[in-house]
Amino acid sequence: MSDLHLKTLSEIRGLLAERRVSAEEATKACLERIEATEPTIQALLHVSAETALAEARALDAAGPGPERPLWGVPLTVKDCLTAKGLPATAGSRILENFVPFYDATAVARLKAAGAVILGKSNMDEFAMGSSTENSAFHPTRNPWDPERVPGGSSGGSAAAVAACQGFGALGTDTGGSIRQPASFCGIVGLKPTYGRVSRYGLIAYGSSLDQIGPMTRTVEDAARLLQVMAGHDTRDSTSVDEPVPDYLASLSARSDLKGLTIGLPEEYWGEGVDPEVAECCRAAVAQAESLGARIVPVPLKLSEYAVAVYYVIATAEASSNLARFDGVRYGHRDKQAQDLTEMYTRSRTQGFGDEVQRRIILGTYVLSAGYYDAYYRKAAQVRALLRRDFDAAFESCDLIAGPVCPTTAFRVGQMTSDPLQMYLMDIFTISANLAGIPGLSLPCGLGRDSGMPVGLQLMARPFAEDVLLSAANVLERALPKLPQPGGLI
Ligand code: GLN
Repeated sequence: MSDLHLKTLSEIRGLLAERRVSAEEATKACLERIEATEPTIQALLHVSAETALAEARALDAAGPGPERPLWGVPLTVKDCLTAKGLPATAGSRILENFVPFYDATAVARLKAAGAVILGKSNMDEFAMGSSTENSAFHPTRNPWDPERVPGGSSGGSAAAVAACQGFGALGTDTGGSIRQPASFCGIVGLKPTYGRVSRYGLIAYGSSLDQIGPMTRTVEDAARLLQVMAGHDTRDSTSVDEPVPDYLASLSARSDLKGLTIGLPEEYWGEGVDPEVAECCRAAVAQAESLGARIVPVPLKLSEYAVAVYYVIATAEASSNLARFDGVRYGHRDKQAQDLTEMYTRSRTQGFGDEVQRRIILGTYVLSAGYYDAYYRKAAQVRALLRRDFDAAFESCDLIAGPVCPTTAFRVGQMTSDPLQMYLMDIFTISANLAGIPGLSLPCGLGRDSGMPVGLQLMARPFAEDVLLSAANVLERALPKLPQPGGLI
């Protein structure tokens, strides 16, 4: 077996563009790696070996060109994004047989740039969860230790990238689902600003929070994927018509962190964070300081309400978004029902898993007459205040730093009986979604107790992905490089 799969996206892209490696060779290397590692990690729900090889051969026949910056680069895509002709289940039985006939804009842009889609990655059902154990099909295992979860909901994408099944992946992040699995699997994950990447073709969870973003082995790789995906799309009215900076140029323009101020919110560095996580993150901040960054405390006083606000808003939006899965238009339909209401009820009861049903019920409750003011309206008001907290913080700093998650990857089955405990793990990631700002997870070491990867989270002002990526790139180079994940050897 070749070791091509071990290259970073940027490295393989260079080899491909110079035609030292063919698109077919790169794709085959990934498919072989998938075959070797899937029995252990089960990161994928669907492998499109034949179409991927056919695409790769077509690319080889046409040849590379500057208009195709990802020429021949194999990637995986989270299963809640549509890719023409490939199943899109969103991890749910209700969509088990759904094969979309169009590409999500993000996927279409990657394909237009020459990327090859290897398959669809596993996820918590409808992106609801933090461990990928809520997938209706099977859980995914962490490549560092198969006894542990890869995080979620984009756990399949994270595990696939960490196990070198592809050179990058697309994830989605409603409350941390790119950043937290990236942190658990020792890779880079970027949730862009709300509106930066079109959500057209994304099976919606919480529409005011959802964003699509890159998951890769390096910061530069993430910049390359974002560059291709970002930008206005008339098919998504929430996509923002702002110019897309040249992210790679901003990476080359910065060699240290001089002139940047990094804010540390006391709320992210106090009690409740595992000592091994705090230790790695503190070391990374010290490294940032030695690279020239100024470190200041910043208040984010409302952080303690973020989990409550998120679980009201996200479930409210989910209850409305998931109403379309009624057995009539998409997916699973019960055959035994005697009338329409019974058909709806039985189809949805059979098609949705426990966590999805729990959230639909909660979301319907907080939106119902009599409770709307007490819950939904109140949550929306606190959300506005939380945003103001971030605006105020960004008056005194350029980046905010803290842990991605209070712990490293937990064991499979450890949290499944206690959903509330799992919700509380989202404490540091959900604020960025509520505020709409970009956040990046950067591997910063292995925890001294668990031996599992730890991620540092950096957040920036809206549309400042250039600052975020360029600072993370400098810091990444200075931090110790993680070894290959040990769980697969
Ligand atoms: N863990 C969070 C949830 O369960 C976030 C999920 C996400 O970002 N999609 O809702």
